[in-house]
Amino acid sequence: MRTSPLADQVPPSGIREIVNLVLARPGAGILRLEIGEPDFNTPAHIVAAAIEAASGPVRYTQSAGTVALRESISRRLARVGGLDIPFDRITVSQGGVEGSSAVMQALVSPGDEVMVPDPAWPNYEMQALLRGATPVRYPLRPEAGFIPDPDDLVALMTPRTRLLVLNSPSNPTGAVIPRDVVAAIVAAAASRGIPVLSDEVYDEFVFEGEASNAPSMDSEHVIGLYSFSKTYAMTGWRVGYVTANKRVSDLLSTIQEPMVSCISAVSQAAAIAALEGPQDCVNEMREAYRRRRDVVVDRLRSAGHDVIEPHGAFYLMLRLGAGVDSRLAALDLVEHGVSTAPGTAFGDVARSYLRLSLASSEAVLAEGTDRIIAWAERTDLGRTIEAGRS
Ligand code: PLP
Repeated sequence: MRTSPLADQVPPSGIREIVNLVLARPGAGILRLEIGEPDFNTPAHIVAAAIEAASGPVRYTQSAGTVALRESISRRLARVGGLDIPFDRITVSQGGVEGSSAVMQALVSPGDEVMVPDPAWPNYEMQALLRGATPVRYPLRPEAGFIPDPDDLVALMTPRTRLLVLNSPSNPTGAVIPRDVVAAIVAAAASRGIPVLSDEVYDEFVFEGEASNAPSMDSEHVIGLYSFSKTYAMTGWRVGYVTANKRVSDLLSTIQEPMVSCISAVSQAAAIAALEGPQDCVNEMREAYRRRRDVVVDRLRSAGHDVIEPHGAFYLMLRLGAGVDSRLAALDLVEHGVSTAPGTAFGDVARSYLRLSLASSEAVLAEGTDRIIAWAERTDLGRTIEAGRS
């Protein structure tokens, strides 16, 4: 059967390769630090609201989401981000993934360029490729603490740039971009008429400093991408949302119909409970991630690793020897009982880094980090494994 050349060029996920390897060995005792998924259960009051909703009629909702949920989101954006975004500029999506996919559908055409961070969550690039667009990577240099340099971005902007993706706190680096840097990037993009997609899905998980909050800087050019997945440990419920100017919001609402019709009504009811209920669960999860970050950073630093401390999200990048292929390192580490995500899964810049996810218990993280430290000593930060494999 002939398949779409656009679909054919989408590369398989480099994280999935490791996940599949681990899943193929149940009972092998591999400590899992590769997955970017909260290990907490969804808080009980959210689950209770879903059960109640599921017990009544469960129907299609508006393509853009129920008005009740969008009004609740509007209040949340005012409370957390100081934003003034009415419900009709909010589109509920099937998680952040479908939200960013819908934005690409709405704005990007074949031949366009989409600027993405390097390293970045791989889905931006996959979605751009599916649109027939060219992803243009801008560097997040380790020596700059993985913070983008606005001059680098300006140099990469062309008349074909149709969208610029920002992500803070960042997956995979955990970096929180200072507000003045975000403001400079937003201004440069806006002055050229380039919309910015600001991925805010980790906005509640900032340990030091403040969230970048790009949507508060320019509500005309900045599109905000949010999710319940991380904030409320609701990855499987699949609810996120997009804020945009009225014209883009109307377009998103229209194109949600052929793409998903609407998001699960049960999950939307759960999302309202998440926003309207007590927020202690969010604070507790943030503190747990902070403690875990400290456990891992302390252990790595005590063992002599030079670690860039993440200030948000729940990831940490570990530097390998210069030039070491992190994919081979991650494959080798699985043999030594711990799984990590290779930097090669996120672009070029971090190809000699491993991403450690802090979404495991402190005990697993402590033991997993010790195994990594022992492996790094044995392999000289991964330098000897390629010779060993070839
Ligand atoms: N954006 C970033 C940076 C992510 O890391 C993820 C998930 O890992 C998402 C968006 C989307 O998550 P979801 O579709 O579960 O909301």
